[in-house]
Amino acid sequence: VNSPQYCDKDWLAVPDINRAIAQSLQFQLSQSQLFSRQKMLDQQYLHLNKLLQHCLDSVPFYQNSGYHPIEHWDDWYRLPILSRQEVQENFHQLRSTLDLVTHEGRSMHIKSSGSTGRPIEVVVSERSQLHWQALTVRDHLWNKRDFTKKLAVIKYLGTENGMSGIAAKQWGPATACMYNTGPSYALNSSCDIQSQYKWLETLQAEYLIVYPSLLQALVKLNQRSTKKISFENITTIGETLNNDVRVHAEATFGCKVSDIYSCQELGYIALKCPHGDHYHVQSESVFVEILDHNGVQCSPGEMGRVVVTALHNKVMPLIRYDIGDYAVVGEDCNCPILLPTLEKIVGRTRNLVRYPDGRVSWPSYNPMALMDILPNAQFQLIQETIDTLIFRVTSSDVIDETLFERVRSVINTAIGYEFNIVFEQCDTISRSKSGKFEEFYSRLAHV
Ligand SMILES: [Zn+2]
Repeated sequence: VNSPQYCDKDWLAVPDINRAIAQSLQFQLSQSQLFSRQKMLDQQYLHLNKLLQHCLDSVPFYQNSGYHPIEHWDDWYRLPILSRQEVQENFHQLRSTLDLVTHEGRSMHIKSSGSTGRPIEVVVSERSQLHWQALTVRDHLWNKRDFTKKLAVIKYLGTENGMSGIAAKQWGPATACMYNTGPSYALNSSCDIQSQYKWLETLQAEYLIVYPSLLQALVKLNQRSTKKISFENITTIGETLNNDVRVHAEATFGCKVSDIYSCQELGYIALKCPHGDHYHVQSESVFVEILDHNGVQCSPGEMGRVVVTALHNKVMPLIRYDIGDYAVVGEDCNCPILLPTLEKIVGRTRNLVRYPDGRVSWPSYNPMALMDILPNAQFQLIQETIDTLIFRVTSSDVIDETLFERVRSVINTAIGYEFNIVFEQCDTISRSKSGKFEEFYSRLAHV
């Protein structure tokens, strides 16, 4: 059957299928963010129940680990917590044995170093990807960003992409399928900080997306500069945004800083509220529990570990997955968005690396690249002196000099310098006093 191709540039446009899907998802999100707390919980319970049944029907890990169907919320809270190490060790057992392509679309493999330096591999569906794209647009709409303006992104583009910027006519796939956007520009985060600042100075973009550790360094450069850069909005991703950095960035760049709390394996977990300092949990996509050391749900103001269930991933379902971060439960707020709140998130941080020639940059050290060499390990890098890094690893495997030589080569290639790397095998890698996991920690003073 030949269906007519309606022109979607007209007023009251009849959109094509991709735009129609994106608009429909956005419409549903605009309604569900107004659900009462009880209505949202009822909706989530329905999904969790179905997801668990699906796990018991077709996912070997859950079939063999004493999981049972649930009849009320109490049953849910008695289910075991899934650790990152279990995900690392049970990649195949955690996948559904059913062919889900018809209802979930194609599967995609994602490798993630997460918040604890313990890299894992997960599989997500095309359907989950569509949800994540919809939440990207939600964040733009919440912050009232003007899609016709210029967007600058500084993030890890892989070592193969070099240091020069990449220009695109559109912002990205999530927005491009709904709006005609302005151009976007991307720069590799491993480019040295002075060059990043100059790049931004020349570009004059209205919006910036960047890691908090880089933003902190850019703040210092902007404070010292006579010709200040300004933005209309800055978005931070990938690491914990410290409140001090946010306050200083807002002052020197003259705009709000919005923060996104997400992870590769689950997508968006919470977005900063455009009306206040709290975050809103993305309850349509994830069920989030903040639990104290006894596994009991925390009250507003209390900090606990973040345990997440992705509601829509049937391909490789993660039930009550301990993501490795900590968060403080938020109070109910007076803003128009009724989604549950988090007051503060404590996840991973990265210090910048300093090279002997004086350059300072975001360390493009990638724990995921070490997965093939040491599959069940946890990693941390510490810059001890100007030319020495300590590589800490927890692993039950015997690590000989040949294996370590490969690790050394992966790190030095990624970081772009022949550092002297000292190897340290240990039982645990602890978090900082504030609870952050320091993926790359530097003992040197910064910019
Ligand atoms: Zn709010």
